[in-house]
Amino acid sequence: MKNIAVFPGSFDPFTIGHEEIVTRGLRLFERVVVAVGENAGKREFLDITVRVSLIRKVFRDEPRVSVEQYTGLTVDYCERTGASFLLRGLRTAADFEYERAVGQINRAMNARVETVFLLTSPQRTFISSSIVKDILLNGGDASSFLPSHVTREDIMRKRT
Ligand code: ADP
Repeated sequence: MKNIAVFPGSFDPFTIGHEEIVTRGLRLFERVVVAVGENAGKREFLDITVRVSLIRKVFRDEPRVSVEQYTGLTVDYCERTGASFLLRGLRTAADFEYERAVGQINRAMNARVETVFLLTSPQRTFISSSIVKDILLNGGDASSFLPSHVTREDIMRKRT
């Protein structure tokens, strides 16, 4: 059986915090599928197709990472992809409480999929898509929070 993990999120935009979880995930899994979804609770900053193409650019030299758009339940997407693992990052106690609920519900829906959590590096704990988005929208320099293949111009040019 292939050891595949799905890393789901809205990635709006994808940050170096997300990048680190994928890179570390590659030490545990043969393949990591970055699954880009809509989050009904969050207002969209970048169009989903733009998010997908920016993340593909980050991992263009890493054949073990694929980036796909998805809809529907994440556990159903795992089943369709042949993934037995769901990968998530944990920054804070607040993340934990949220992730615990989602992880337990996902397990209740499909016990064949195990959720695996990686703790964020301390220096990346404060990085979130919403803060990076605010910096970009207010003309600030967010480059130290963005993967090296993604520039401010890449993001702002592609905003709808
Ligand atoms: P969602 O809308 O599903 O919360 P996000 O794009 O905000 O999607 O986050 C996707 C995943 O990445 C989550 O597991 C989140 O905890 C994790 N994550 C977000 N920021 C960081 C970071 N700075 N370091 C590590 N993991 C992170």
